[in-house]
Amino acid sequence: MNAVVSEERKPGPILRALREGVEVILELFFPAHCINCEDALFPGEVAICDSCAKQIVLIKDDVCIRCGMKLSYGFGPKITCADCIRDSGFEMTCAVAMYSGPWQTLVQRWKFGRCQGSTRQLASMIVHRIKALGLEDEFDVITHVPMIGFSWFFRGFDHTQTLAKHIAFEMLKPHERLLAKVRKTKKQSSLNKANRLKNLKGAFRAAGEVKGKRVLLIDDIVTTCATAKECSNTLLKAGARQVVVAALARAALDKN
Ligand SMILES: [Zn+2]
Ligand SMILES: [Zn+2]
Repeated sequence: MNAVVSEERKPGPILRALREGVEVILELFFPAHCINCEDALFPGEVAICDSCAKQIVLIKDDVCIRCGMKLSYGFGPKITCADCIRDSGFEMTCAVAMYSGPWQTLVQRWKFGRCQGSTRQLASMIVHRIKALGLEDEFDVITHVPMIGFSWFFRGFDHTQTLAKHIAFEMLKPHERLLAKVRKTKKQSSLNKANRLKNLKGAFRAAGEVKGKRVLLIDDIVTTCATAKECSNTLLKAGARQVVVAALARAALDKN
């Protein structure tokens, strides 16, 4: 409620600075402007305006069922790409949208601590995709790709763990920490496909009770599937019955 403030009751510099500080923090967590085009958001719009949301390329059935790679042939609900026919560690990948345009901006900013207030909505979009594929009863437990120590330190929060916990809450399934990183690795985005696989080889170990479980593994962005594959193989070797991977975004695969 806006009360009329008389001239002599105007807030002092400390109170003003405090209010401005609160506004900056609110804008960080719950942006009042679209994080893509910076237009003011209308009630009901979260982090991104409706017009930018329409530009998001949602993933439907035109992808490989295992790695989530967009296919240019044979659309259908159970098609596998040539790479995955030969090799795959996991059962299925479901990603919400292609990592491009406004979706890329939103996922990037969220990942680096901006608009954390949208985590619940992002989690809901993954849940929606899981349900659309009829996978809601295909797992017993939800876990996430662990973050390396320094990333957590610089970002201040483990974004994938937070996302996984929201998904678990919405799906009424347990969230457990089933993976731990055992050694330092190079930044995946700086490497080509072959080196990404090498970089992560043996980088994880299973933690907690994995045997016989069907696991939903949450990641943020799937690119070459190197992380998903290594994490899935670690879980499967530890006795997991099945691993399904779910992510916010699928980046177009490079040819390296
Ligand atoms: Zn916008
Ligand atoms: Zn594939």
